[in-house]
Amino acid sequence: DISLSDRVQRIKPSPTLAITAKAGELRAQGKDIIGLGAGEPDFDTPDHIKQAAIEAINAGKTKYTPVDGTPGLKKAIIDKFKRDNSLDYEPNQILVSSGGKQSFFNMALALLNDGDEAIIPAPYWVSYPDMVLVAGGVPKVLETDVNSRFKITPEQLEAAITPKTRLFVINSPSNPSGMAYSVEELAALGEVLKKHPDIIIATDDMYEHILWTGKPFVNIVNACPELYDRTVVMNGVSKAYSMTGWRIGYAGGPQKLIAAMKKVQSQSTSNPASISQAAAEAALAGDQGCVDEMVKAFKERHDYLTAALDALPGVKCAQGDGTFYAFPDFSEAIANLDGVESDTDLAALLLETAEVALVPGSAFGAPGCMRLSFAVGMDTLKEAMRRIEQALAK
Ligand code: PLP
Repeated sequence: DISLSDRVQRIKPSPTLAITAKAGELRAQGKDIIGLGAGEPDFDTPDHIKQAAIEAINAGKTKYTPVDGTPGLKKAIIDKFKRDNSLDYEPNQILVSSGGKQSFFNMALALLNDGDEAIIPAPYWVSYPDMVLVAGGVPKVLETDVNSRFKITPEQLEAAITPKTRLFVINSPSNPSGMAYSVEELAALGEVLKKHPDIIIATDDMYEHILWTGKPFVNIVNACPELYDRTVVMNGVSKAYSMTGWRIGYAGGPQKLIAAMKKVQSQSTSNPASISQAAAEAALAGDQGCVDEMVKAFKERHDYLTAALDALPGVKCAQGDGTFYAFPDFSEAIANLDGVESDTDLAALLLETAEVALVPGSAFGAPGCMRLSFAVGMDTLKEAMRRIEQALAK
């Protein structure tokens, strides 16, 4: 028998990828599954971005690049941070990776010693706790609920901080809740963090552009500029430009930490794909109109879906601020259903009887809730709701 490392035994496979795979299997068996589990936009990558990749191939840009990214892409990222976020970075403060997932992984490995604590508000992106665990850290999960719009308070943050706290993670707008913190809320969290100078802050801005609060996007460094020297700003092209398969994410932050993250990457994957980097450069530097079109569609679906979910008996669904996820609280509906004890049971039931794939909230640290991606067309979404309603009525 092969004995595996303690490190790998601490973690589990990504539940969202698992649900997507399961839905794919059932579909291959001929079932008419509606997949609301996946974390990716349903739009195609815009043409001008694809064209840039084709040109890169034809121009022979098919070799290793610098580990931390091509000078052209790094410049486009620096310009983007300036343009969209009013943040200034030097090239040695930027690291391009194979997806935002790798950016975070690099950071966890570069930052955490065994036993170091990372504060992660729930509901969280499924990968944060596991990446912290693989690095030897200890996730400290802060609970929230639909009544607080799934946002933590400064008091909660303060109470969670110990001498071992090394990292605070914030993701706004949030996958899975769809909620965004206001500038005032971020400033209040920043006030707490200012008192604890050893804590590094990771702000995951992946859904920055998929936002409809009517106010400009802000992250915690915008709200509290004093945190600049210890904040890593993470972002990527997957969601905003519908480029999930290209695998490009990036981070801007303190030079010392970015250099350490680059060292980790240099000994694991080296540079992200050269062709994808050319495409990402075109995405960030090119016309941003393509983003607006997608956001318009997401908003329309959001308005329909959150209202339809909230109208279901035993279901409470708040309006989100952005992303392409709804995160309704199904706990009352679960309590009312015979043979359904948990959100995981309910997800299994909906997959079998309604043939709708969605992800149970416990995967995100929020049992009783469900995550539905609205990265499908309106007709499909309406059909999914019809099926869910029918399954709950039984
Ligand atoms: N951060 C959040 C909050 C996400 O939802 C995702 C993707 O699901 C990522 C980061 C990573 O995306 P990628 O690795 O495709 O850049």
